[in-house]
Amino acid sequence: MDSSFEYRDCPSCGQDDFKVLFESNMRPYDFNVSYDYKMERYDSQEAAEGYLVPGKEWGRHVKCKNCGLVYMNPIEQVLRTNEYYSKAKNNHAPTVRESYLRTAESQVHLIEKYAKGTRLLDIGCAQGFFLSCASKAGYAVKGVELSQDAAEYARKEFGLDVEVKPFEELEFPADHFDIVTLWQTLEHMSYPLMMLEEVHRILKPGGLVAVSTPNIEAIPAKILGKRWWDIKRLHVNQFSTTTLADILRNSGFRDVSPASYRGFVSLSILVTMLLKYLDIYKGSTALLNSGSPVGKIMDKMMLAYRSRINHCVVLGFK
Ligand SMILES: [Zn+2]
Repeated sequence: MDSSFEYRDCPSCGQDDFKVLFESNMRPYDFNVSYDYKMERYDSQEAAEGYLVPGKEWGRHVKCKNCGLVYMNPIEQVLRTNEYYSKAKNNHAPTVRESYLRTAESQVHLIEKYAKGTRLLDIGCAQGFFLSCASKAGYAVKGVELSQDAAEYARKEFGLDVEVKPFEELEFPADHFDIVTLWQTLEHMSYPLMMLEEVHRILKPGGLVAVSTPNIEAIPAKILGKRWWDIKRLHVNQFSTTTLADILRNSGFRDVSPASYRGFVSLSILVTMLLKYLDIYKGSTALLNSGSPVGKIMDKMMLAYRSRINHCVVLGFK
């Protein structure tokens, strides 16, 4: 193992006592393939097609014997992954736009039930779908995003204020925000505890944090195992509702509790995913992508689901 990897203690409880759940399926060669090549593959094909590809690449997954968190160990160096995120393209925005906007409405409703003030920060805001909904609902919003391409989309499409920097470099003032949200972000973070401690610092007393991630204890993960669509190279932490609540408590939050919202998925994403699982996807790309007439119709046909089917959602207060 070369120096492009780093080993982590448990990113939640800090212990270094784990059992290996499964080994990496990547050869050293895979890690050394240039990022340009990887990005081309992820972004032009997988991302544009809904990026729900089973059985691609993953690192070694371990389970902490102390707190039960499942995490990747070792991980690729943060500088390398940040470079990847920075250059990540945004080709899948048209495919996911309608479904993500509708999911965002439900996430805003959830926030409205618990938040007292209006100053909101979304970390890992991607194309800004959630922030645009929150802004319409009256929140004073700000986003943080590493992908230059996604941030540009958020600015142009929705006129949003987005910082394109790693969150840990931003140094917001203490006691500043009423709400901080991390939708599908924490599973990407090499050091999620440090990040949540920083979120705690910048929240006002009584402020709300809302976090969602894929749920490794949910039914799809249990059935599909390593072929679950959320087992992938860039998901370096795999939370359950219990371990997600634990890491929030470990970083200083109180009154931590599970929550739920309504997610939406378009028929085009769902069918793409099914075809990929059945290994009969090739050839249907042209028919299903959002540029085609069939794709356009299917992008607009939505199915609603409860977030807990595949995700864990946890709220906490400072
Ligand atoms: Zn642990």
